[in-house]
Amino acid sequence: MATLDLRSLRLRPGEVRKETLDVELEPFVLGGLRYEVTPDRVPVTLEISQASGATVFDLRFKARLTGACMRCLGYAELERDVSAREFYDPDAPRGDDLRSDYVVNDRLEVGAWARDALALEIPEQILCRPDCAGLCPVCGKDLNVEPHEHTEWEADPRWAALAELRDNL
Ligand SMILES: [Zn+2]
Ligand SMILES: [Zn+2]
Repeated sequence: MATLDLRSLRLRPGEVRKETLDVELEPFVLGGLRYEVTPDRVPVTLEISQASGATVFDLRFKARLTGACMRCLGYAELERDVSAREFYDPDAPRGDDLRSDYVVNDRLEVGAWARDALALEIPEQILCRPDCAGLCPVCGKDLNVEPHEHTEWEADPRWAALAELRDNL
């Protein structure tokens, strides 16, 4: 995981330092489906400054997720501009907002932070397009390719036996 050594920064008051790190982001598994993050190594920009005793970290990057549409299982991708801010004051108590959980032993865990920040940007549903029609619940065909409806009597043969049973009840 990519980290940044804070001891080597030696920031002067008022100074804004800019660092770029290539961060490898693990794929996400959502609803049993796997989403790769591209490119393989995402260039993450960090801006580091000081404000009233705390170090301020601003993180920014662009990443793309690719995988299966959650409705039709076709190809889906989404691109997000991610930005996040953390503060670190070594004198602040643990759990305080001014004491970032991503700073461990004077190192900023950029990899873990970037992955969490991207996770917050992922919508509940990843779709090939916003109005994806999905798969037919009766026959399983892709409704984007072949829009159709089933009337009760031309239902899939797999269900016919069940329908017959129901009619005899
Ligand atoms: Zn779809
Ligand atoms: Zn169908």
